[in-house]
Amino acid sequence: MMADGCIQTSAKQKKRHPSYCIRRGIRAAVKCCGDGPEHNGGTGMSDKRQDYISWDEYFMGVARLSALRSKDPHTQVGACIVSSNNKILSMGYNGLPMGCSDDAYPWAREGKDELETKYVYTVHSELNAILNYRGGSLEGAKIYVTLFPCNECTKAIIQAGIREIIYAEDKYADSISVLASKRMLRSAGVNFYQYQTTGRKLEIEL
Ligand SMILES: [Zn+2]
Repeated sequence: MMADGCIQTSAKQKKRHPSYCIRRGIRAAVKCCGDGPEHNGGTGMSDKRQDYISWDEYFMGVARLSALRSKDPHTQVGACIVSSNNKILSMGYNGLPMGCSDDAYPWAREGKDELETKYVYTVHSELNAILNYRGGSLEGAKIYVTLFPCNECTKAIIQAGIREIIYAEDKYADSISVLASKRMLRSAGVNFYQYQTTGRKLEIEL
């Protein structure tokens, strides 16, 4: 499946319909998804900015920004949950549960025993994003995440009713955890696809 947002209109389609909207598959002049520079309503009269970020860039950008909050020295993951009509519902990053000090708990991947590793304490970004949402149901939502979800987060995603995952990296694709994730997602009918980077870089003053 193609990422939404700035989808190039083919030359052939442009010739046929100057304002063809790929996402909706209909002429933009009739009803446009409203996203991307191609989508000016078919009038050719708009003077709006043309270099604004797409929905996909926006939500993956928020997920990436969230990841920067993580205290984990090795892995920073961010997630952004979005409603089916593109409203941001929640965000999360990998971190410790409330009340567990970032300075008192281990961030190591190896230790004398498992109790001295981060694995038994940290909450992953996807689960945090789900748990951070206090507004009701996440039924039908989608989640943008910078790394493919582990099997535990996948269970939570499925049970929360989230129907689509847009992930950036999949560097543990061969792991038991991710293989299990994909098996469960296929069984549950949850759609997942990789975010296609546009290569655009932003500089934000903080
Ligand atoms: Zn996880």
